[in-house]
Amino acid sequence: MALIECKNVTLAYEKNVVLEDLSFEVNEGDYLCIIGENGSGKSTLMKALLGLKAPLRGTITRGDGLMRNQIGYLPQQTGVQKDFPASVFEVVLSGCLNGSGWRPFYTRAQKQTALDNMAKLNITALKNACYRELSGGQQQRVLIARALCATGKLLLLDEPVTGLDPVASGELYELIDHLNRAHGITVIMITHDTAAALPRCTHILHLHRDTTFFGRREDYAQCSVCVETLDAAGHPEVPGEKEHMHHECCEHHIHF
Ligand code: ADP
Repeated sequence: MALIECKNVTLAYEKNVVLEDLSFEVNEGDYLCIIGENGSGKSTLMKALLGLKAPLRGTITRGDGLMRNQIGYLPQQTGVQKDFPASVFEVVLSGCLNGSGWRPFYTRAQKQTALDNMAKLNITALKNACYRELSGGQQQRVLIARALCATGKLLLLDEPVTGLDPVASGELYELIDHLNRAHGITVIMITHDTAAALPRCTHILHLHRDTTFFGRREDYAQCSVCVETLDAAGHPEVPGEKEHMHHECCEHHIHF
């Protein structure tokens, strides 16, 4: 059974439809990139996957015993988060509160979970460092370790490399790959950074007005949405060579 199955889902604010009749599924071990221009409904879909927004029509089903609070979520960075006055360990550990209700202390098992997740993200040495003094890349790793405290199964990442320099972005992508491949964590990532992110994922969901693409990454280069996106990005068109050109552009752009 799929970890998440969206079947004929329509999402709307009041009567204002944002996504219509969307169907896709995410299976254990998948790495799905959700792409699309601003306003295409990526954040709205994320809210629905997190169970924070009910579909107007259709169903979103969680399988394999996945509970709503077992989805690790990395929201987009905000200024407030960057200034969090706590140690790395405290920030990671706070992820264990998800779903367990308020407790005045953390259990030994929760502390161990936090330490294990810090090890997965290579931040054990930063345990006692002050979160707000870290670099942007280190802060993102702390927040992913925190999100992992809610789940061993599924991570939802919203624009995880935004604002990071190329080296820090590359390191973060490597770590996300590692979580996916070595630890079997299913990843759903919203991104604008298609050139770097798409070669790493297994599946792509491209939200694009009425022509949404969902499928395996290998099939994306052939699809019409990909072609349109590349045209919009200003690739020259040679009359008569359109099909050939587009194919090359896609492959070049995505670096398969
Ligand atoms: P994306 O994340 O791809 O930029 P969003 O999901 O944020 O897209 O937005 C999709 C559409 O839904 C946009 O037209 C936006 O104006 C609208 N929208 C987003 N949030 C709300 C809201 N809280 N109330 C009403 N409309 C909204």
